[in-house]
Amino acid sequence: MHESNNKHLSFVKQAKRILANKKRRKFFIRRITILACLVLVLSSALYMLFRSQPSNPEPVKDSKDITNEKSNRSITRIMPETKDNDIKTYLNDKPVVIDAGHGGIDPGSNNGDLVEKDINLDVALKIGKLLEQEGIKTILTRNDDTFMKPSEKIGFANENDACLFVSIHCNYFDDTSVNGTTTYYYPSDYKDAGNLPGKEFATMIQEALMNHIGTRDRGIAPGPKTIVLKNSKMPSALVELAFITNPSDAALLASENFRQKAAEGIAQGIKKAVEILYSKADTGSADTGTSSENNTIPQP
Ligand SMILES: [Zn+2]
Repeated sequence: MHESNNKHLSFVKQAKRILANKKRRKFFIRRITILACLVLVLSSALYMLFRSQPSNPEPVKDSKDITNEKSNRSITRIMPETKDNDIKTYLNDKPVVIDAGHGGIDPGSNNGDLVEKDINLDVALKIGKLLEQEGIKTILTRNDDTFMKPSEKIGFANENDACLFVSIHCNYFDDTSVNGTTTYYYPSDYKDAGNLPGKEFATMIQEALMNHIGTRDRGIAPGPKTIVLKNSKMPSALVELAFITNPSDAALLASENFRQKAAEGIAQGIKKAVEILYSKADTGSADTGTSSENNTIPQP
């Protein structure tokens, strides 16, 4: 009786132990499952967060990556059409970088509803398209309303080993009678990357631009404090298309026809520069053109 009682007790004990073990295992598995779910939710949330961040401060290093992420990235690589003759002429493995000035939280200047960042983007996209048609490899710093610091923009051009850099802007001034078009360059001897000094590059753009648009020619001007010019490792220029604060210039800046003509002029100037950079022939020294006459205008 005693023995069987003991046996019974030990059996109950054992059964309890097995039950407890089972419970523990169940509890453990449930915890692991909850933990795994949490990790999954957290990581996907983090992924969505970083994916939707428009101004990625990390400049894109490989231009090949840019092509694959067209819709989400602020930077788009415009692929040139492969035309045998053009490739033979330019062989520009180094891209031209076109920068639409300002963007995102930085609208630039404005005149009522006419906002500089929008004009700059439209003209930059048009230039990109034209260069693409010419078989010139081109990258834009932004292809939508995205903010990038000027230092990031020129850093992007430097990292992509650009052969040329052009920034598109509109000018402004308190005196609304001031109007016209200016192209800025960085005044330095050591900036003569390739065999094309920045001053000559600016002259080419300004001259080609003036052949296409009917604004007042303010000539080229030095922009020693302009970050995108100062920090560039390649010939660079900053174009002030016209004065957004001047009524007749503003009307031009608002028009599709003017923007197209301006883009054609700038693209032509860039094409000339690319031809010089990629031709073996000695180009000699180009005329440095006119200089700025109104020093009271704020520099870009
Ligand atoms: Zn600007």
